Amino acid sequence: METRSATPSRVSLIFTRRARCAGEFLLSDQPSFQPSTKVIHSNRSYEKQSNSILFPIHQTATYIHESVGVTKGYGYSRGANPTVNALEQAISAIEGTAHALCFRSGMAAISTLCFALLKAGDHVILSEVIYGGTIRLFHQVIRNFGIEFDYVDTAKPEAVATAMKPNTKLIFVETPANPTMRLTDIAAIAEVAHKQPGVLLAVDNTFMTPVLQNCLDLGADISMLSTTKYIDGHNATIGGSLATHDEAITERLRLVRKTIGTIQPPFDSWLALQGIKTLPARLEVHCRNAGVIAEWLEAHPLVAKVNYPGLKSFSQHELAKKQQKAFGGMMSFELKATTEQALAFMNALKLCTCAESLGSVETLITNPATASHCDLSDETRDRLGISSGLIRLSVGLEDPKDLIADFEQAFAAIFGAKA
Ligand SMILES: *Cc1c(COP(=O)(O)O)cnc(C)c1O
Repeated sequence: METRSATPSRVSLIFTRRARCAGEFLLSDQPSFQPSTKVIHSNRSYEKQSNSILFPIHQTATYIHESVGVTKGYGYSRGANPTVNALEQAISAIEGTAHALCFRSGMAAISTLCFALLKAGDHVILSEVIYGGTIRLFHQVIRNFGIEFDYVDTAKPEAVATAMKPNTKLIFVETPANPTMRLTDIAAIAEVAHKQPGVLLAVDNTFMTPVLQNCLDLGADISMLSTTKYIDGHNATIGGSLATHDEAITERLRLVRKTIGTIQPPFDSWLALQGIKTLPARLEVHCRNAGVIAEWLEAHPLVAKVNYPGLKSFSQHELAKKQQKAFGGMMSFELKATTEQALAFMNALKLCTCAESLGSVETLITNPATASHCDLSDETRDRLGISSGLIRLSVGLEDPKDLIADFEQAFAAIFGAKA
């Protein structure tokens, strides 16, 4: 509501300002903005009722037809929703794509990808070190649909080339991989994939996000994110996304999402939309803190091994430097101790919170052998380097001094004078 009298000059000022604000909504008008600017402004709409600076939550199942068959492009919220679309615009801004699609979980995104692109008789290649939920999806569900799959050490492009079959349709890699941080050279695997017509490379880019590693620029066909992690960043929502430059694949994914009902609910999209605005800024601190913690752990006499791509001792440090813009906030480490002692050490931590998930402001620790990777046999875990005492650490935004003090008190509590 306008409270001051509207003189002619003031009216024109209002109109100029409205026109400019309305224009801010259109990403295409702002091609020169950097991603960190786009995630804040790309979805800013000029909300006509109140001028609210935040994009509103369109909590609605359906949309009114102005006359039979005439809508503003939204028909039913299983198909599309403006608030979900606002988050999709922000994600496409960092992916560098025209579109992105949001799903009600990262697993819903992977499931929709499989439903959309695979059929009985097809073959899939998966990274052998990969998120536990992805293993469960293929073992317990996808297998029942007559789709074959093989786990391959995707860190070795020649192993992927050998594993290719005439019916291979999809290569699905995760890099850095959960929880050993093993890296896959995305450009090298894209080359292997594209030698055979019709083979698509999808990358689970949850650990890096497109801000730190743009897998589409590196040659992948599809980028997948669990937005639950760094995109939201506050442990407020579960969600996932898919992005690709291929319009036909986007439309196929959109159709399948609408058909099976895997779109993200608007309130969750709205929360993630607040999170993504600070993603580039948060990642800078996550990376800096993780670097400090990784070096401190590596130098500690009770630590046997630290898996962090930013360390010179990391076997694929050169690849990390080549394909990542920074080294991220995730690592895993092993103690010079029994499994029981390692678990007792985790229990003795006070500031580091023992909880599944990652990429949030809080520092989180998990024991993959009993959490995300509990479905694997001991033998498989050993072969992949997921020892029963391995500790996965998602470094948050607390001051690293406080985190180190927490590690010190836990070492002292479990190992006494030796620490
Ligand atoms: C969490 C996670 C997923 C699954 O995402 P949800 O949002 O939990 O369904 C997939 N991949 C990776 C690497 C993850 O960390």
